[in-house]
Amino acid sequence: MLRELGRNVYAITGNKGGANCGFVITNEGVIVIDTTLFPSKAKEILDNIHIITSEPIIYVFNTHYHGEHIFGNEIFNAPVIASAKTLEILHSISDSYVNEYMGKDEDLIPLLKDVHVVLPSITFNRKKTFTFGDKRLIFVHTGGHTPDSSYAFIEPDNIVFSGDLIFAGLHPQICKDSNIENWKRAILNIRKLYPEYIVPGHGNICDVEETDAMLNYFLTLEKIMKEIEQESDIDKISKLKGISEMSNLGFPELFVSNLKVLFYLKYNKKKAVKYT
Ligand SMILES: [Zn+2]
Repeated sequence: MLRELGRNVYAITGNKGGANCGFVITNEGVIVIDTTLFPSKAKEILDNIHIITSEPIIYVFNTHYHGEHIFGNEIFNAPVIASAKTLEILHSISDSYVNEYMGKDEDLIPLLKDVHVVLPSITFNRKKTFTFGDKRLIFVHTGGHTPDSSYAFIEPDNIVFSGDLIFAGLHPQICKDSNIENWKRAILNIRKLYPEYIVPGHGNICDVEETDAMLNYFLTLEKIMKEIEQESDIDKISKLKGISEMSNLGFPELFVSNLKVLFYLKYNKKKAVKYT
């Protein structure tokens, strides 16, 4: 669903199989924020942009390296901005990364076989601000969900594109390279901006209330983790608590895998489940 949240600031949500994304039209051109999992979807988004404006696409911004956010980069044919960490990670994995996705589900093969990962060519370490006329786009690298996670803050519209730092109404995806303390700090940073809208990586457009929900989610998992001494406890506890405390959240399958990843992160056990 395409929605204009501020003047010339658009969010596109509900992308089947891909993350939310968006774009900002400035007097110098269009900046696209994340590009979904599928080049075919990215092409649809590009067509939509062309209906709304004749301005050229001047930059793509990637919030982090996960395929759901970057595999459509090539379609926009513009330099990619991302944190230096995103470039570092993609350098180390890019050759096999698309294959890894296709290996997860053979239905993805026809949709992803033509993906060429376009690496960022403009990188930043902590924060980078671009000014185009009356629009300012501030990109901030925080880590958390992944070591390279970043968000975009659009002024004067006061809108945040959070990437996967925020999952709205859903279990967030905790990964083996997540850092929960950094993640909580990143959420607090976003909260302090008091954005009018947050475009989350997944889920519906939301506001600061969702930052509280995310922080509470981590608090609940931390409490549960105190009761887990061995991996087999996870199944018992998830049956008891997962249902009562978090039954209204989407992506319910992530509840058990999140606990397993946290268990892995806590004890760094080699036998813990493979999770990507
Ligand atoms: Zn992600």
